[in-house]
Amino acid sequence: MQNLLKGIIESNKIYTKEGTVASYIPELGKANKEDLGVCVVTLDGKEFMAGDAEKNFTMQSMSKVIALILAILDNGKKLVFSKVGMEPTGDSFNSITSLEVKHPERPFNPMINAGAIATTALISGETDEEKIENILSFTRKITGNKFIAVNEEVYRSEKATGNRNRALAYFMKSNGLLEGDVESILDVYFKQCSIECNCRDIARIGAMLANDGVLPWSGEKVISREVSRIVKTIMVTCGMYDASGEFAVGIGIPAKSGVGGGILASVPRRMGIGVYGPSLDNKGNSIGGIKILKELSDELDLSIF
Ligand code: GLU
Repeated sequence: MQNLLKGIIESNKIYTKEGTVASYIPELGKANKEDLGVCVVTLDGKEFMAGDAEKNFTMQSMSKVIALILAILDNGKKLVFSKVGMEPTGDSFNSITSLEVKHPERPFNPMINAGAIATTALISGETDEEKIENILSFTRKITGNKFIAVNEEVYRSEKATGNRNRALAYFMKSNGLLEGDVESILDVYFKQCSIECNCRDIARIGAMLANDGVLPWSGEKVISREVSRIVKTIMVTCGMYDASGEFAVGIGIPAKSGVGGGILASVPRRMGIGVYGPSLDNKGNSIGGIKILKELSDELDLSIF
């Protein structure tokens, strides 16, 4: 496996020259376009890494997976899916039109920004600090990494430029879809997007989901099999923005990407995979990351279909 990953990084490094690093959040624009890393965590707890696997980047939209899990754990699936749908959308992750014109009663799914702001609003905690602490401590548990924290520069950059997310959130508030103070909810959302991680952290989350909610390295059950199934299913249908269908056909693995360049992938009953490559395609997905997952999927026959 180690050699396979090393070879895959070498053969796909060339693709990092394509695409661009996200810059609509200015801090993300500082990433090194040529970085490329991968980590595989198998269900017996073995870990294999190659390339820039230990480099830190922010979770961005991968944090939507964590927010969805916590929203369900704190409120039950019935309440969560009364506030946010489970249908894919062909629109971009921060689309306003789909929320207003097509689906004003609730956002399409928890993997687009509007849906994630809605799930974040459901996470338990009396104050913003308590909510983000709950998110951080759960993330530390499912990554086995006690150093997981918010990258303050990225958080401030997101908060300063997040007007589109503000628009989505205030629109939902005006339709009675959000309870509580909008700015506080957004603050938690911006912080969860700015949680710093590396390929190993996200591969471990993928492995936990692949293992039906059990941490492979300790045997601890952190979520039920049902919740892990719901989350993986929504990752398959909605996790790769408006390229989810193409990704399912070509690669066939439940996955969630983030504009920081990470992709968190979970191959049921086999492994978790974390990839990082900050150069993105026009849908906001890591170009190198997708190439790595494609090669791994072909090589190890990982498609679930
Ligand atoms: N923080 C980003 C935003 O809300 C997350 C987007 C993403 O990774 O897709 O714009």
